[in-house]
Amino acid sequence: MKNLVILGGGYGGTTLLHELLDHKIPADTQLILVDRMPFQGLKTEYYALAAGTSSDMELRVKFPVHPKLSMRYGEVTGINMDDKSISFAEGEPLEYDQLVIALGCVDNFHGVPGADTFTSTIQTFEATRETYRRVNNLPPQATVNIVGGGLSGIEIAAEIRESREDLHVRILDRGERLLSASPPRLSKYVQDWFKEHNVEIRNKINISRVEEDCVYNGPDERIPADITVWTAGIRPVPLVDELNVNQDNSGRVILDDLYRIPGRPEIFVCGDCASLPFAASAQAAEAQAEQIANVIVAGWKGEQPKVQPLKLKGTLGALGKHAGFGSGFGFGGKSSVTGRVPRLLKSGVLWMSRHHFG
Ligand SMILES: Cc1cc2nc3c(=O)[nH]c(=O)nc-3n(C[C@H](O)[C@H](O)[C@H](O)COP(=O)(O)OP(=O)(O)OC[C@H]3O[C@@H](n4cnc5c(N)ncnc54)[C@H](O)[C@@H]3O)c2cc1C
Repeated sequence: MKNLVILGGGYGGTTLLHELLDHKIPADTQLILVDRMPFQGLKTEYYALAAGTSSDMELRVKFPVHPKLSMRYGEVTGINMDDKSISFAEGEPLEYDQLVIALGCVDNFHGVPGADTFTSTIQTFEATRETYRRVNNLPPQATVNIVGGGLSGIEIAAEIRESREDLHVRILDRGERLLSASPPRLSKYVQDWFKEHNVEIRNKINISRVEEDCVYNGPDERIPADITVWTAGIRPVPLVDELNVNQDNSGRVILDDLYRIPGRPEIFVCGDCASLPFAASAQAAEAQAEQIANVIVAGWKGEQPKVQPLKLKGTLGALGKHAGFGSGFGFGGKSSVTGRVPRLLKSGVLWMSRHHFG
């Protein structure tokens, strides 16, 4: 029997799985999904779990059940490309014939001293639960520093504001405006929303170190906080860093035209671990997974594999449960939209993720 092993049941891994299960799987092939969790965690909503506005259960999606699919739950500790096997913290290694690496990312602390020790994070389900515990156990009027004014930082700041009106929430951002990659109109809407909801914004911040109860801007300015949440950049999981392969400046694996590691046609890399012409996103992971499925299915049928260019739709962000923003969708000729409509659209996208549509 040939093992097609998918490492990671997140946005990329589960999309790939659903696409493959829609086809007839060859009699001599079995699919094996590997994850540390027995369900998919909807990472795009981890900010709401951390704030306490969504429950743990709401962010879990069951994996599919199929006679040609088996699960291996556990912590992957090594990808051994030469002997084509995967090692685990516990139990026997798993051999593969084809492999898809879709293990996602971790925080990038950019070498800032103390950042990995003293900040809370929302990059894994487990870490998000811990952030939830810390944020929600804070005494009244405590202060939360959020480092990073991109999508995740904004969403968690807004959600904490909605969850805990008593807390002092402060966003520390490196750019001149929040969401610096988005149209200025959108940044202004978001900044105004925060002003109206009493969230402090500090721009042009350069964090030099983090301590238990503060961060430092430049060498001297101490910015105190009871908790600091880090949302200032990502990089692929360390297991991918350890591979002897070519990587781009963000540590993502450089791939051939069919999303395989050059010289290793049996290994695909998907999602946040893959060097794509876009910022890492669930949307990109899903779009790429569909194309990887086409390549694998073509192999099953003995056909020439082809991939279509990846097309992304745009970005939607939430400011609590009632307001939001979107850009890149070409909404009636506008480059961006704000208010209740994009928030409703975002809820619709989440609903589709939960039910594996789209
Ligand atoms: C707060 C927040 C908001 C976001 N909002 C958006 C958004 O609005 N739109 C958007 O497109 N993107 C958004 N993103 C980004 C998006 O979540 C990621 O780009 C997406 O999850 C990447 O998919 P993936 O399949 O590469 O990895 P993931 O979905 O992270 O899946 C990786 C899987 O691998 C498993 N895994 C990792 N390491 C191991 C190991 N050692 N052993 C076993 N299992 C392991 C994990 O448990 C996980 O199930 C957001 C991210 C965050 C944090």
